[in-house]
Amino acid sequence: MKINKVVLIGTGTVGATYAYALLNQAITDELILIDVDSEKAKAEAMDLNDGMYYADHPTQIRHGDFNDCKDADIICITAGVSQTKNATRLDFAEKNTEIFKSIIDNVMQTGFDGIFVIASNPVDIMTYVTWKFSGLPKGRIIGTGTMLDTSRYCHLIGEYFDVNVKDVNGYVIGEHGDSQVACLSSTTIGSRPILEKLDTNDDMKQKDFKDITDRVRDAAPSIISRKGATFYGIGIGLAKLTRAILRDENAILPVSAYLNGEYGHNDLYIGVPSVIGRKGILQVIDIELDNAEKVKLDKSVQIIKENLNMLKLQND
Ligand code: NAD
Repeated sequence: MKINKVVLIGTGTVGATYAYALLNQAITDELILIDVDSEKAKAEAMDLNDGMYYADHPTQIRHGDFNDCKDADIICITAGVSQTKNATRLDFAEKNTEIFKSIIDNVMQTGFDGIFVIASNPVDIMTYVTWKFSGLPKGRIIGTGTMLDTSRYCHLIGEYFDVNVKDVNGYVIGEHGDSQVACLSSTTIGSRPILEKLDTNDDMKQKDFKDITDRVRDAAPSIISRKGATFYGIGIGLAKLTRAILRDENAILPVSAYLNGEYGHNDLYIGVPSVIGRKGILQVIDIELDNAEKVKLDKSVQIIKENLNMLKLQND
């Protein structure tokens, strides 16, 4: 039987939470932890192994180094500088690009030929950076995009209408950041559009919806100001993305995917619903947007492109 191998680079709060979710959900057979602080990676492996007796699947977990990357199925990068109270995700771009350059050069020297999963911020930029530095096909680089924002959105919509979050079908797309776009026009509950429930003449309901999208957009600073970091939501989201790849689920997830004409844009990675399977991103789903959503998405694209230009990474 094929042994699935995941290498995690960056064992900070996000990385450690992801590792814990992988173990708890029995998603991979082998998990290797790498961090510039190798003692931290070693300690996380020891701590996770301490729970193995109670886990449903005997995952082989140890700390490692870049030599472990050659035959990995997935390399997940959560390394980098973490978000602070007053900085936006885009502020990290330059510093994390430097860190990614050295990580990806080291990984590619081993002959790695699998899939990169990226969570480090600004995630849309870091996903593009990984594609550029690795030279791998576009569909084998997947950023977590708006997975976390979409989960927050569906949770709040479910809570508002008092239905199970799993019965809300809707997406937040665009930048994983302030210019994200909640797609109200295509959100459904039990196959019925929520627009039917949100009477456009009802100012109260309109205001409630705005409050929900504001809370989704501002969730990260609001958590970070209280506990210093966000990690459970992204940790479980990363585990879901990993499972979709390793189990060839063809699951539709709002990841940071390369646009090649979809939504009228090219040459950037941005959060859009995409089909995810064993070979990576199989298809970008071009969902229908109303005019206001389209204008917001164009603005989001512009913001990401300005940052890519600043880093001098685009193909022009
Ligand atoms: P953290 O500071 O706790 O952990 C970062 C880890 O990266 C540290 O352990 C550090 O030693 C390691 N690291 C730094 N440089 C390295 C290198 N060159 N090689 C290997 N390891 C290196 O930060 P965190 O809270 O775990 O966040 C990690 C990243 O995830 C940040 O960029 C953060 O903004 C991002 N994040 C993304 C989402 C999302 O939805 N995509 C959500 C939350 C956090």
